[in-house]
Amino acid sequence: MANDSIARMRVSNPKSFELKKFDPAETFGWHKDAAADALQDVKVHLDLLQQRLAAENKRSLLLILQARDAAGKDGTVRSIFSGLNPAGVQVTSFKVPAGREASQDYLWRVHMACPGEGEIGVFNRSHYEDVLVVRVKGFAPRSVWKKRFRHINEFERMLHDEGTTIVKCFLNVSKAVQAQRFQDRLDDPTKSWKFRAGDLADRKLWPKFQTAYEDAIRETSTSHAPWHVVPADHNWVRNLAVANILLEALKKLDPQFPPPDPTIKNVRVE
Ligand code: AMP
Ligand code: MG
Repeated sequence: MANDSIARMRVSNPKSFELKKFDPAETFGWHKDAAADALQDVKVHLDLLQQRLAAENKRSLLLILQARDAAGKDGTVRSIFSGLNPAGVQVTSFKVPAGREASQDYLWRVHMACPGEGEIGVFNRSHYEDVLVVRVKGFAPRSVWKKRFRHINEFERMLHDEGTTIVKCFLNVSKAVQAQRFQDRLDDPTKSWKFRAGDLADRKLWPKFQTAYEDAIRETSTSHAPWHVVPADHNWVRNLAVANILLEALKKLDPQFPPPDPTIKNVRVE
């Protein structure tokens, strides 16, 4: 994938960011069959870089996936991480906070799930729910959620300073494609478990979520943790795009196998 596609997805000018400038059906001129082959190539590279990251055991990578329902967060995780060593990848899906989570500050459960040295962490939803659904549904007043942009930037800055590379992707699905996917879920008994009646209520709040996403992306696209707006109307574009964004981040990290223990030099196994 040409690097200019990644540059087009990256929000490097947050002040002038507008979600409507990003086409959910964008294909970057790719074709479906070639994209499937390209994804396999990317995964070979990801596998090698993951091995190095684990062997180096110093730094970590955190992939944050945010999206509306049916944009394909689960499918993205399955498509990119199947085939990688599961010992080095930790996926966390954040649901409505319950029990202890609900009585702590909103970053508590998130911090606990951050990847350790040598690990890749994947967040399926994240602390961004606390400025998105919480704002749109009025679970907290403006005076509370508004301050969270600053907390989040400072929290992510700390993670970055301490050795975690943060990659943030918003999977951008259109309203029409979400309708098709909801209908598929309703009609297919193997998919209907994914559908909640509340999904339709959230769909009615589409414009409010649009504003909330736009503000969140604008307020929290930083040089150390920029957002990427990934076109998500075509699964194959979405998967290849996220895989490439991740690969670029890992290449930049350039993790190295540690040198061998000097005491084993010239050792021969009899
Ligand atoms: P799903 O990802 O479809 O399994 O749904 C998880 C649900 O949990 C979504 O409706 C999210 O909006 C909700 N959720 C996740 N995090 C939070 C949070 N911090 N506060 C309120 N709701 C949340
Ligand atoms: Mg859902």
